[in-house]
Amino acid sequence: MPPEDFQRVANAIERAGIPAMVRFAVDTQRSRRDRILYARFFVRGWSGLPPAANPAASTVGRSQLPHCGDPDCDPVSRTRETEDDRGIRSLIRCPDCHPDHKGRAA
Ligand SMILES: [Zn+2]
Repeated sequence: MPPEDFQRVANAIERAGIPAMVRFAVDTQRSRRDRILYARFFVRGWSGLPPAANPAASTVGRSQLPHCGDPDCDPVSRTRETEDDRGIRSLIRCPDCHPDHKGRAA
């Protein structure tokens, strides 16, 4: 996906909210017989979604930072799962978009 599309998705999340986007994606797929293979198709639809009544409902207490778009980063919790060299998995706050993260780790 090109960077403009990530920005469009971030804008749609802020304006319409994730539940509306999921609903749109599911409804769109249901109304078609062929499989939708391109995220771009959804991105175009999402950018046309109307503003939600309360778009901040699902992100109360979070900052307005757009999701960084990293596939390892959870767009809701803004955490990433990492694995250290002993194979121990842990969740860390995303250094790029977690609202409580102050700057990047040195
Ligand atoms: Zn992130």
